[in-house]
Amino acid sequence: MSLFANLGRSSRDVASGDTTLEVAGAQRTEANSVSARDAFERQVLGLAASRDYRPVFVVVFGLERFERLRAVAGQSLVGDLISQLGARLARAQPDWRIASVGDDVLAATFQAADATEAEGLVHDARVAIQGAYSVSSILIDVRLSAGLSAAGPPGALLREADIALDAARTERLSFKVFDPLSHARAVSALALMPELRSAIAADELSLVHQPKYDLRTGALQGAETLVRWTHPRHGPIEPDVFVRLAEETADINTLTRWVIEQAIEEQAVLAGAGFPLQFAVNLSGRLVCDEPFVDWILDRKPSREGALRLEITETAVIDNPVQAVRNIARLAAAGVPCSIDDYGAGLSSLAYLKRLDADELKLDKSLVDEIARSRRDALITRSVIDLAHSLGMRVVAEGVESGETAAIVTAMGCDVGQGYFFGRPVALSGLVDQLTAAAKPMEEAVSISA
Ligand code: C2E
Ligand code: CA
Ligand code: CA
Repeated sequence: MSLFANLGRSSRDVASGDTTLEVAGAQRTEANSVSARDAFERQVLGLAASRDYRPVFVVVFGLERFERLRAVAGQSLVGDLISQLGARLARAQPDWRIASVGDDVLAATFQAADATEAEGLVHDARVAIQGAYSVSSILIDVRLSAGLSAAGPPGALLREADIALDAARTERLSFKVFDPLSHARAVSALALMPELRSAIAADELSLVHQPKYDLRTGALQGAETLVRWTHPRHGPIEPDVFVRLAEETADINTLTRWVIEQAIEEQAVLAGAGFPLQFAVNLSGRLVCDEPFVDWILDRKPSREGALRLEITETAVIDNPVQAVRNIARLAAAGVPCSIDDYGAGLSSLAYLKRLDADELKLDKSLVDEIARSRRDALITRSVIDLAHSLGMRVVAEGVESGETAAIVTAMGCDVGQGYFFGRPVALSGLVDQLTAAAKPMEEAVSISA
């Protein structure tokens, strides 16, 4: 019989059919969690030393939307939920050793003939335990992400499975197997962090701007400003890598100040060339809640009302709703409108939308792709668009790559389109050239009719 072995002091028993499971209670401390991990790792080592010579695997399951769930339901309910998940997993895979090893993480170790069989088992287990759970009479639809470690020494399996789960969450996948190569790349990216600081001073950073078009009139409506880093030895580094890393250190503060100051400078050049365009800059979650940073933006903003827009993800709001709601309202009142970015990328809740002084909702590329692929998704999205409109928000379709998708999102009621179909992000000089070329036929038409 397998045990849901959590050795935390505040453990309490949860009866589940004929299996008794133990799970950490609501007030689990860090020390408890560490001891639970230690105990689990000892189980992994025990399995690896057993007479069954098949390879040993570790899988960790993490709750999707955990932060939101915790905010809405409270930590104690999340603890109950984890214990129910453990019970269901024990029924689905009676041979697995299962433990709760973190606030929202369930780990299991097992043996299989090879990695392919292990992946199949994890897939089946995830499907078996996902679904509806009732916790204190709240019905929760539970989705899980999973990370599997299929290689490496037994002592490293849990850590590697954790890394795979983190990667799955970052890439918004439901399942990921630990990949030593991409992990090595991520670790070396971390080593680049000190260089990012000097890169800002050494002019290695630059900006590109991606146009946004009004889907009904075709008029240029503004541009999203994105940061680029060209490292002297490694070449271009993805913003998804270095911005995320900077977010984990205090460097995001310096980076964003640089982006905003540079954006304002480039915007003035563009306005001088006859194109006074709104620039939208991305604002990381932790800065949305940073009062002095918001003060700095308000001091620094261009004098023209609405010239600067900020894109904020909803996750930022969920993490610290009171401060985020207040700061967004301050920005909006001072003529810096805000957009809710990446809507539909996994962590979206319409409940927050009505509390925010945001006037624009950006549908994430994944949702836009789904609209174009599936009629059912299109119907769901349609209601999101209608709701956003009824809250007075404009809706932007992001990541539009084809004319067909552009036509569909227009028919669905989206107001603005952005994506490779309309134009890739380009440096300021490229943007000036594009706008000048687009303005020419109009000027000619005007001079002919005059
Ligand atoms: P995002 O805010 O969702 O930005 C849109 C990303 O989608 C950009 O990637 C853009 O180049 C890409 N994109 C636009 N149209 C298409 C399309 O049609 N197809 C595809 N496949 N991709 C498209 P990029 O520039 O690599 O930026 C990635 C993310 O990095 C951004 O996602 C944003 O979250 C972050 N980021 C970029 N610049 C900054 C910044 O200055 N500050 C902060 N905080 N984050 C930034
Ligand atoms: Ca954005
Ligand atoms: Ca986005």
